[in-house]
Amino acid sequence: MDRMKELVDILNDYAFHYYVLDDPIVSDSEYDVLYDELTALERSEGRVLPNSPTRKIGGEPVKAFRQHEHIRKLYSLDKCNDFDELRAFDEKIQKANGGKAVYTLEYKLDGLTLCLTYENGIFKCASTRGNGSVGEDVTAQVNTIKSIPASIPYKGTVEAQGEGIMRWSAFNKYNRTADEPLKNPRNGVAGAIRNLDPKVTAKRNLDILFYNVNYMSDGNLPTQAASIDFLREQRFKTGELWKTDSMEEIIDIIRNVDRSTLDFLIDGMVVKVDDFALREKLGYTDKFPRWAIAYKFEAEETSTVLKDIVWQVGRTGKLTPLGILEPVELCGATISKATLNNYGDIQRKKVKSGSTVFIRRSNDVIPEILGIAEDRGGDDVSPPKTCPACGAELYESGAHIFCPNDEGCPPQICGRIEHFASKDCMDIDGVSDKTVFQLYEKLGVRSVADIYELREEQLVSLDGFKQKKITNFLNSVEASQNADLPHFINALGIPNVGKVAARDLAEKFGSIDAIMSAEFDELVAVPEIGDIVAQSITGYFKRHSELIERFKRLGISPVYKADAGEGFFAGKKVVLTGKISMPRSAAAELLRKKGATVSDTVSKDVDIVIAGEDAGSKLEKALRLGKKIIDDKEFTELINA
Ligand code: NAD
Repeated sequence: MDRMKELVDILNDYAFHYYVLDDPIVSDSEYDVLYDELTALERSEGRVLPNSPTRKIGGEPVKAFRQHEHIRKLYSLDKCNDFDELRAFDEKIQKANGGKAVYTLEYKLDGLTLCLTYENGIFKCASTRGNGSVGEDVTAQVNTIKSIPASIPYKGTVEAQGEGIMRWSAFNKYNRTADEPLKNPRNGVAGAIRNLDPKVTAKRNLDILFYNVNYMSDGNLPTQAASIDFLREQRFKTGELWKTDSMEEIIDIIRNVDRSTLDFLIDGMVVKVDDFALREKLGYTDKFPRWAIAYKFEAEETSTVLKDIVWQVGRTGKLTPLGILEPVELCGATISKATLNNYGDIQRKKVKSGSTVFIRRSNDVIPEILGIAEDRGGDDVSPPKTCPACGAELYESGAHIFCPNDEGCPPQICGRIEHFASKDCMDIDGVSDKTVFQLYEKLGVRSVADIYELREEQLVSLDGFKQKKITNFLNSVEASQNADLPHFINALGIPNVGKVAARDLAEKFGSIDAIMSAEFDELVAVPEIGDIVAQSITGYFKRHSELIERFKRLGISPVYKADAGEGFFAGKKVVLTGKISMPRSAAAELLRKKGATVSDTVSKDVDIVIAGEDAGSKLEKALRLGKKIIDDKEFTELINA
């Protein structure tokens, strides 16, 4: 009894933060665990306290909004966490039906229930679910959602129920610039709809997917599938719907749902009896219909204590904060570290050591700290002043903090070597972070070029370097001397120059010497290279000309060779000018695939100029230089040959 009282108090407090303040202090999964404990106790004791949350649907409406009475009650859903419970549900339904029943399956969207009333074909008002009978009137807020129809063909009174959602795309976009980032799309939508100022709602770019006709004055709908068709005819956006009489097929579909491919948050799947006559027979409990059940997915979010924040130095000298967590289970793994993007991120999310934080795991990447769950009064995090790795004085640039000691800071040096040797760069086998550390510590490797001067006698002293590994390593180092220009440029680790920019630079300039002597204006003329990248490139070569010379002495000075394709364009340098019948970028891509290099300027070494309609000075120059010129029609034929 004591535990029951305690659980009721805790859960009611959590529910207040969740439903009324839209600012939960624990994750849903933690709430659910306690809720399940309470339901089990209530069952075994045969008693339910009058203020138990198991009696209530959702939260009471907030006073600041006008209250809205639903024509028909809006229910919650019964839930389960494993497939056997779905099978048991199926058995129960079959028993009541006297045989197989048809089910529909839908996504369980994780947002906020909204109920929209239309009268005479006109949108009249929108409300939240509230306690099921009375919700809050949020008409002005819902009116900011662009996808809802202002009028519908149906002329009676209808209540259409759906889930207000914030798509991941809208959520990510919002969080990129928001002063206060949203913790998750569910909070994003709940906070926006239950905000008194519709302007705030509008900024969140919400959407709504409908799944139920809660009431209609004229006519009858026979099934869930017919209701969805009706909603679609009325131009409401609806979600996906599967229909089958086999629970095993439903289980199979659920198993194959890949949440990471959806643009919205779902926390499960909803199975509903399709036939309304059968629904009628099954009826309702106080809280949910007996004809539906939600299968809840494993939680991707939880909360835990943030014990400390440590700063890691990357190869470019940028410091990234890493949250050290009180270990917690999430998606079958024990999580003890989570990322925070930068110092600005820490400030915006208001996280402190000692506070509890929400963390979320998506795909397999290290989880992210979403924001603070409960402030336990710890100290504010102050930005580090000196480098944790080498002690150098740090500087800030934009939202980031940097260590300037690129020549002497160990993680920067090791990071550069690891990057240099990686697959997309020089592709040297067997260079793990442990090996790099040994090369640094034991063999005094400081520059990426030092790798080419390592000798067998030295490598013997490294842990794990037996004869076979040494031979493989040395062979791989030697082979890497023939790396092509794009890989070599990428390997240099020029700040802001990744794989794509490296390829563009290689294509455009053809050699390291040409890139080194390129003027700023020539660099920014390369598509995708803007001012910052161009500055980064010129700055890099100013500081590292000695390294490039050393590479040359080592015989590493690749020049650009286009992919050796076959056919007319293979190995040719081509310029596109004038209007051609496909986008320029697509034409360039096709040419590259056929082994050509694409250049922007007509110079002596250009082989072919493709001149579309209205070609101007480039065509003139090509004619002057006596270059081969082909028109759009010929180009289309040749490229498709
Ligand atoms: P619920 O949100 O788990 O399920 C019912 C709701 O699902 C419906 O009201 C509807 O809005 C939604 N839904 C989405 N797709 C649907 C579909 N296709 N068909 C029908 N409905 C669909 O249940 P609830 O009663 O709204 O809320 C309880 C949940 O809230 C708990 O599971 C808990 O995780 C969470 N909660 C968390 C805290 C906290 O502190 N973190 C506090 C209270 C409640």
